[in-house]
Amino acid sequence: MKKISNHFLNRKTIISVMLFLSIAFFQLTSCKNGKKPKSEGINPVQSVTARAETKPVPRASTEDAADDPAIWINFSSPDSSRIIGTDKKGGLGVYDLDGKEVFYYNTGLMNNVDLRYSFPLASDTIDIMAVSNRTDQSVDLYKINKDGSLQVVHKKQLLSLMKEEVYGLCMYQSKISGKFYVFVDDKNGAVEQWELFADGDKVDGRIVRNLKLATQVEGMVADDGTATLYVGEEDKGIWKFNAEPSGSVDGELIPMSGEKDNQNIKYDIEGMAIYSLPEGEGYLVASSQGNSTYAFFERKAPNKYLGSISIISGDLIDGSEETDGLDVVNFAIGDRYPKGLLVVQDGSNKDNGIAAAQNYKIISWESVASKFTPALN
Ligand code: CA
Ligand code: CA
Ligand code: CA
Ligand code: CA
Ligand code: CA
Ligand code: CA
Repeated sequence: MKKISNHFLNRKTIISVMLFLSIAFFQLTSCKNGKKPKSEGINPVQSVTARAETKPVPRASTEDAADDPAIWINFSSPDSSRIIGTDKKGGLGVYDLDGKEVFYYNTGLMNNVDLRYSFPLASDTIDIMAVSNRTDQSVDLYKINKDGSLQVVHKKQLLSLMKEEVYGLCMYQSKISGKFYVFVDDKNGAVEQWELFADGDKVDGRIVRNLKLATQVEGMVADDGTATLYVGEEDKGIWKFNAEPSGSVDGELIPMSGEKDNQNIKYDIEGMAIYSLPEGEGYLVASSQGNSTYAFFERKAPNKYLGSISIISGDLIDGSEETDGLDVVNFAIGDRYPKGLLVVQDGSNKDNGIAAAQNYKIISWESVASKFTPALN
């Protein structure tokens, strides 16, 4: 009897010891592999409120219509700077910094928009804007006039050769050659790089490079200062490429830019923008559409993840949800925007608690920056 119970005790002890050892071994190897819990070292999402919102696009509240903004700084009169927003069901809206609509153009199904300053044309320079136009499967070019009105400036529409509809778009000006470019992508992961050039008093373009990503892309931004193109693969993360036409067609994935290794991100990755500071400093902002937040990374390599914010409802203005496009500028505009502003599309606009057509929210950079530890610049 005694012998048997000893035998049982021994087996129990051996099993316990083995269990203990295997847990200890698992923990040891996990640490050795550096596999920490996803949440460790990540700041929780901070919330801010918008300072203003634009007039809704002229669509029904049920339509997915507003998509992507661009901020145009009027350097001779900063208070008269403008926000240009696409309405992918019909055109382009131009808004002042309080969100009042100044112009609206029925130009077609305009998806993404971006701009650059001082494009040399004839004996002058113009502020130039590019838009992806799904009505004509083209990139359309506009001159931005002093009052923020828009004027077609392309010699002919730049007709895309991609198989799928034109989708995301951004501009790039090379600090190396001084040349201006437009990147446009489609839902199949294809990207065309167009070089722009003057032809008399109009602008024309030619394709100089093609890139290809594995799955659906849209949001893109180019950092002129570092010659980097960022492309958001919607269900993967943010890729960076050399933005020069002679650059490699191989991209590099930014760490913690996808939901697999960042609990604060939920697909899709959507619009992106760069907040530039001197000497390569600054931030990359990306819309994490699946959880209505915005992820912030350092601008300089290796693009360290800094944290995320959400834009919640304030006293007068509702928060922003399911954001597609966004833009940001580092330019002081009076007391309203002493460190610049962030503009985001709102997928679910409410006015006085009632569903309204989509619009754009305007947020002071100062209020965003103060939410980080340490504060952003
Ligand atoms: Ca949408
Ligand atoms: Ca844009
Ligand atoms: Ca998208
Ligand atoms: Ca979009
Ligand atoms: Ca909202
Ligand atoms: Ca509202």
